[in-house]
Parts: sequence; C-alpha cells; structure tokens
Amino acid sequence: MIALVKHAKGEGHMSLSDRPIPVCGEDEVLIKVAYGGICGTDIHILHDQFAYYPPVILGHEFSGEVVEVGSAVTGYRVGDRVVGEPHNKACGKCYLCRNGHIQNCMDKRSIGWGIDGCFTDYLVMPEKLLHRIPDGLSLEEAAMAEPAAIVAHQLLERARVTPGDSVVVMGMGPIGLLAAQMAKVAGAGKVILCGTDADVEYRLRVADELACYDRFINVQKEDATAVIMEETGIGADLVVEASGAGSAIRTAIGVLKKWGRLCAIGMTGAPTVEVPWNQAMMKVLDVQFNMSSSYNGWDMALKLMASGKVKTAPMIGIRPLREWEQAFADLEAGKAMKLLLKPEAL
Ligand SMILES: [Zn+2]
Ligand SMILES: [Zn+2]
Repeated sequence: MIALVKHAKGEGHMSLSDRPIPVCGEDEVLIKVAYGGICGTDIHILHDQFAYYPPVILGHEFSGEVVEVGSAVTGYRVGDRVVGEPHNKACGKCYLCRNGHIQNCMDKRSIGWGIDGCFTDYLVMPEKLLHRIPDGLSLEEAAMAEPAAIVAHQLLERARVTPGDSVVVMGMGPIGLLAAQMAKVAGAGKVILCGTDADVEYRLRVADELACYDRFINVQKEDATAVIMEETGIGADLVVEASGAGSAIRTAIGVLKKWGRLCAIGMTGAPTVEVPWNQAMMKVLDVQFNMSSSYNGWDMALKLMASGKVKTAPMIGIRPLREWEQAFADLEAGKAMKLLLKPEAL
C-alpha cells in the first residue's frame, strides 16, 4: 500500500512509499481508511517541530470501515464504519491513565507520529479506542471527529459554556470555528470571532456559512479590546484561545471579566510568551490549558455532528493522497480550512 512516510528526523524527509498492509492483533481491527485529515500537528512534523518516531506513516485523524477483526474483538464487525481516539500505547498504569486521562499518558504513542498512522490504505487500531460513526454522518464529516472531540472535551466538558455566556474565540482555523459552533449549541449569548486580514477572504466566508458568530473583529483593522468591551459591557465570560498568537493571549486576559475563564487550545510557535500576569491575578481568572480529547468529548462530538448541530462539511476539502505536498502547502498558506487526504487504490 502507498503511504505518506516521514523517513528521518529533520526538516522535510517526507514522501510516498510502499508499505506492507499492517497485521491486526487479537484485540485490534484492520481498518480500510476512507479519509485522513491533515492536522496542524502533521505540518509541525513535516517541519520537525513536534515529537515523532521515524520512519512513521503520518496522520491521526481518520474515518474508515472495518475489514478484519482480531479473535478477541467483541464490539465490532467487518463493515462497521469507525473513527478512533489516537491514544495508542497509553500504559493503563500511571496516575494519568488511572484517573481517566489516557490521552495525556506519558507512554502514549499516537498513530501518525508514535506509530504508523492513517495517510495510507489500511490502519490497525485497538478495539478499545474505536467509536462507531452514527448513521447519517458521512465518512467525510466523520474524519473531523478528532478535532471536534478536542473542542467538545475542552469547551463543553472542562470550560463549561453556560447559557448566556459571552464567548470570544481567537483564531479562525477548524478548532476556532468548531469552538464557535459548540459555544452556540451550548447556549452562549454572544459569540465574537477574532481573526486577521488573512482570514477575511476564505475563513470568514466559511464562518458565515456556518452561522456561528455574532460579531467578527479583524484585529489588524479594529481595536479588539475596545470592541469586545463595548459588545460585552463588563468583559467576556469566556475566551477560547485557538490562535497561538502572543498578542491574542494578552488581549484575552485584557478582555475577560473578573472571574472569567480562559480556555487555551492554541499552541504558540515560541517557547515563551509575555503575559500580563498581575492583570490575570487581579481578575481572578480561571485559566485552563488543554491537550487532546476524552471519551466523552468523542461521544459528544459525534452526536453533535450527526444531529447537524455542529457542521463540518463547509470546512472540508478533499485531495488525493498523491497530492499531499500541495495540500500541506495550501493549508500553510491559509487557502484551505481542513483538507482530507483520500487514499487511492493503486
Ligand atoms: Zn489533529
Ligand atoms: Zn499511562
């Protein structure tokens, strides 16, 4: 099978290679990949900015169909449509695993960087990490279950949007627009989206199609702090930071009301970011750092997507696997929101 492989450490070193079809163990299933979503993580791996263990097949966001089940598998059958949590190799013994946070286990080796992933024809996954794709949800849309599960876990399960909340979303990538939609679903009063000049042409149109915001602020053209204070009166209840920009993080602290909540999902490029610490202290802010997704997050995300309350179709573009290089470039240039690679029978 043809697979997109990162061959060695360093910038680049990525190409399509022929790989054997993986063999599934007794508690695993073999999945025929329908679509594999390109994530920011994959772009970081291309540029050597994220941990990975080469040679490895990239891709951790997939949808597909079960084509073989191991002898100990009880909950899935050939033909089932599935997605899966990329929490492979979590140890099950550490304090994180035993507290239910397998997604943050230090032994975790996710598909796509720790072990072979989904940018290919076939993928092996343990039964215990699978979720069935609900009827009515297409394989294309289901391929966005992973980012949707992250947002559902962080925003709905942890930061807990409450009805009437004024919510500011910094960043207009898939995470930002999923967060804006889920905030609306959870009953947010006003959702304010913050973006830049680069977002106006394409991403803002997608946001319009999703009808997921009340006010858009181009932070390069308007004074975001002044507009948010005017729109909210006493400041925002909740800010979702999904841009990773230092200036956005500082603005977030500036526009939150006292006892407001900051839900941080965006990774910054730099190892340190200057923040107005005392201001955050004086405001008694609740700050939550977030990494990865929970079982409940997946469950909520799939239900919200299947019901149509959270839409992903307007964000998705589909490219053949052999055009991976152009797809990565288009994402980096902001010409696409979420691109799914479709493996082709060769
Ligand atoms: Zn991802
Ligand atoms: Zn563990």
